[in-house]
Amino acid sequence: MIRIPNSSIEFMISVQGIRLTNRLYSSFTELIDQLIDICKSNNTDTDSKIKAIKLLGGIDEIKDRLITIQKFYLNNSNEIEKINDLVNEIFNNNSEKANKTIYKELVSMKYNDINIQQINVFYLQNKQHISLLSQLLLKQATDIANNQINTSKIKIYTMVCFLIIFFLFSILPIIMMIFKLSDAFSLIQKAILQLSNNDLNINLKENQRRFSFELDAIISSLIKLKNIQIEKHLLENKNQQLIHQLKLKSTTDYLTSISNRRAFLETIKHSSPEYFNHSSLAIIDIDNFKQINDKFGHASGDEVLIKFSQLLSLFFRKNDLFCRYGGEEFAILLHDCDHILAKNILEKLCTKVRYLSVALPSGEKIYFTISIGIAEMNNKFDINQTIIHADKALYHSKATGKDRVTVYTHEMAVY
Ligand code: GH3
Ligand code: MG
Ligand code: MG
Repeated sequence: MIRIPNSSIEFMISVQGIRLTNRLYSSFTELIDQLIDICKSNNTDTDSKIKAIKLLGGIDEIKDRLITIQKFYLNNSNEIEKINDLVNEIFNNNSEKANKTIYKELVSMKYNDINIQQINVFYLQNKQHISLLSQLLLKQATDIANNQINTSKIKIYTMVCFLIIFFLFSILPIIMMIFKLSDAFSLIQKAILQLSNNDLNINLKENQRRFSFELDAIISSLIKLKNIQIEKHLLENKNQQLIHQLKLKSTTDYLTSISNRRAFLETIKHSSPEYFNHSSLAIIDIDNFKQINDKFGHASGDEVLIKFSQLLSLFFRKNDLFCRYGGEEFAILLHDCDHILAKNILEKLCTKVRYLSVALPSGEKIYFTISIGIAEMNNKFDINQTIIHADKALYHSKATGKDRVTVYTHEMAVY
């Protein structure tokens, strides 16, 4: 069942009231016109009489309806007192009497005694009251309509406010959540991309963000992965360092820090024989080293080995190879240097060594000499054979008085 609001009923009644008062007004106007016509025609205009009778009947009917509206439907109106006064004015005893008199006169067809002037004045007054009543009802209808518009406005504003509040409390958090999630996803995507590119500069922190259990789990897994990667890198670096140290240790002499025999021979083996064409290999042996050890102690002997190694590092060119071959023996490979030039250079080394000394804490100085054997290399050389040849030349130096340089000759093959 459709429920019509009270205000709407009041509005409709007011409009109905306006309609009735308008009809009443026009009925009175027409009635006066008809009465005037009857007077003018000296009571012969039967049509006007019938019309006037009908109008009186209509006025009666309107009166009943207006009074019903006034009594039963306009009780709550603010203007009820004024409305009552006006209705009473319009339908008072005088008007009742006037209507009845006119009616009787018209029905008996004796419409002679009526003072048209008087009636006109009376109905004109009545018409003023009807106008006032119509205006009152119109004002009431307008007030009701305005009230309804205001109520509707309030309803609309309330609805809009409700929608805004609904948006703020339900949709806004969802939008914020979506933004947060997309932020988290792009963070994760970036981190995965960085990890896959081995870039560990990832800006992820545990407990920094709270998205959802699953996303947090992914983030902490990524952090773990990053930490594992960092550990892996550190281990790899450590390994590299260890490998480097091992390599260095395996190729460096522990006492003198110059290359050892292995590094020396490996370098030669890994180079093409052409590279050593017209190069010379020399073996150097410190003379009477056992005596140095015996006289000054093993530590002082070590000092002699260190001092001599330092001299070798300063004396030879960058592309010459040299090493501690073992004990107090050293090997040198003079690149692009035939046996004549090599002898020349190494004799200079012998001279330098004669003036080289190791100072002892006692103030004493250890002087020593070296013996050298040289073997020239060609593009078909065999390193082991070359070393044997240099060794033989060295043996010759030792045998012929030490502190000298000997170049290998084929005559030495018999030694
Ligand atoms: P020659 O003139 O004939 O070469 O006589 P030498 O005494 O030098 O030769 P020998 O082979 O008789 O003695 C070599 C000595 O070198 C024996 C060894 O104890 C000593 N020696 C070997 N390695 C080292 C070392 O690293 N430090 C010290 N201080 N002595 C060493
Ligand atoms: Mg020796
Ligand atoms: Mg020696």
